[in-house]
Amino acid sequence: MATPTWNLYAFCYGRHENRMMSDTFVGGNPNELCRGLDYFMWAIVGNDRVIVVDSGMKKDKLESMNRTWLADPIDLLGKVGIDAAHVDEVILTHAHFDHVGNLGRFPKAKFTIQDLEMQSITGRDMTHPFFRTAYHQEDVEELVGLLYDNRLKFIHGDGRYAPGIDYHLIGGHSRGQMGLTVNTDRGPVFLASDAIHLFQEVDEERPFIVFYDMVDMLEGYRTCARLAGERAFLVPGHDPIVTDIYPAVRPDLAGLVLDLGKEPKAG
Ligand SMILES: [Zn+2]
Repeated sequence: MATPTWNLYAFCYGRHENRMMSDTFVGGNPNELCRGLDYFMWAIVGNDRVIVVDSGMKKDKLESMNRTWLADPIDLLGKVGIDAAHVDEVILTHAHFDHVGNLGRFPKAKFTIQDLEMQSITGRDMTHPFFRTAYHQEDVEELVGLLYDNRLKFIHGDGRYAPGIDYHLIGGHSRGQMGLTVNTDRGPVFLASDAIHLFQEVDEERPFIVFYDMVDMLEGYRTCARLAGERAFLVPGHDPIVTDIYPAVRPDLAGLVLDLGKEPKAG
């Protein structure tokens, strides 16, 4: 039987412009601007299922960090007919604050996360203030609440989430950082989430400034590139180039709701 295909959407909800290279890459020039970061969540839709990937961030939190709010990511889900109140499945690629910010807006969902990520954010790792900076305590407390409500599901390592959707433990950026391969009409797309923030990390093997384990992160870049096969099938978690090259689901949603199942422009 042929592997099922899925629709794969990206929702761009925030932007960080005027970001210095030194705030982006290890060893980056403190006097040079980089292009910046876009903030995404994603959804995998088809085969009578809706699977949301990560839950974005809240407006006040994003703006308090001097990022630009583009749209409410939960509202953007509605643009492709997804009502968060009725979503049953959410995959959390990792628990950094820009990926788990709206857990309470999915009141029916069960959430899936890697064992190692949950261990990391509730154990000894968090005694190190450096590792804590990318997490928000209230998000972690909410995740623990979901656990005790039987709404948190654990996976470990690599495996099959559903026919046509595979998960991969990449690590590096966070201890339990996960990427997903999603079979689409144009072939399997590798959604790196924050295993890769920017294409530049892979192209230049240049380490991003936030990491759990530098070697795992750098090896992870290679793993992601290998899993994607070619660049047109590799989707980093924060690259504004993604927003540039993928078509919107509708013209009025340009730059906000992207169809990753369609061919990107050469970027
Ligand atoms: Zn992120």
